[in-house]
Amino acid sequence: MDKGVVIVTGGSRGIGAATAVLAADRGYGVIVNYTSNSAAAEAVCADIAAKGGVGRAVRADVSVQADVDALFAAADAMGPLTGLVNNAGVVDVAARVEDFDLARLQRMFAINVFGTILCAGQAVKRMSTAYGGTGGSIVNVTSAAAKLGAPGTYVDYAAAKGAVDSFTVGLALEVAGEGIRVNGVRPGIIETDIHASGGDPDRAARMAVDLPMPRVGTATEVANAILWLMSPEASYTTGSTIDVTGGRGIAP
Ligand code: NAP
Repeated sequence: MDKGVVIVTGGSRGIGAATAVLAADRGYGVIVNYTSNSAAAEAVCADIAAKGGVGRAVRADVSVQADVDALFAAADAMGPLTGLVNNAGVVDVAARVEDFDLARLQRMFAINVFGTILCAGQAVKRMSTAYGGTGGSIVNVTSAAAKLGAPGTYVDYAAAKGAVDSFTVGLALEVAGEGIRVNGVRPGIIETDIHASGGDPDRAARMAVDLPMPRVGTATEVANAILWLMSPEASYTTGSTIDVTGGRGIAP
């Protein structure tokens, strides 16, 4: 825990779980956030402990203010916060725009955008030198969909991730003089449960052959980029969002 505490939202599965384990390996105490699957979060913490690290599972819905407050209070109890990985994110089932209803849109933006912004605000209050903190790093996990638009499947998700990309730039500039770097990663098609939660469990495997690098990415490949952005090696990098897509979506 010599590097302080990092909160990984949605740290119980997929990219978040890989990030939590890697962060613990690198010396962070890790808050492994989840909403429903406590067994998965506890399994990540057990994995961290088995490797000599410190991880604590904390249930919190990032789109609920009181939950976010409690999540950060749990981090405070562990030690000084030095990092936040805004990874929690959801898709919905494939649909065209004319079939979206308000409830779907509210959930999409509440978790992917409002949750990210709420958590970042709490992190700034703890890490900013303007509040007596010693600085830190925020990494927002967005998506290649922000550039590609995801037509016919989830344009709402793509628009939400586009909002997060803009937020990364704005917050990075807002706190650049306060010791906080804010960056993003934009994953492509990564092998996780998210495709099943969008009603299409075979999506990643089906798309793999048509990708520039003809395979899906792994959660650890995304986690490696996140941990680099958090590290001192990225000390002059802020406001950047890195494509981790095997080439998908990089051409304008
Ligand atoms: P995943 O396997 O579906 O895992 C999602 C994680 O987020 C779980 O830990 C889940 O916890 C948590 N979560 C969901 N809603 C939450 C909420 N309201 N508050 C807090 N935690 C919540 O997802 P993933 O594929 O690893 O995706 C991680 C991030 O990468 C997301 O932001 C996603 O949009 C982005 N991304 C993924 C891909 C991909 O191909 N996989 C591509 C581009 C971008 P519970 O299990 O407890 O619900």
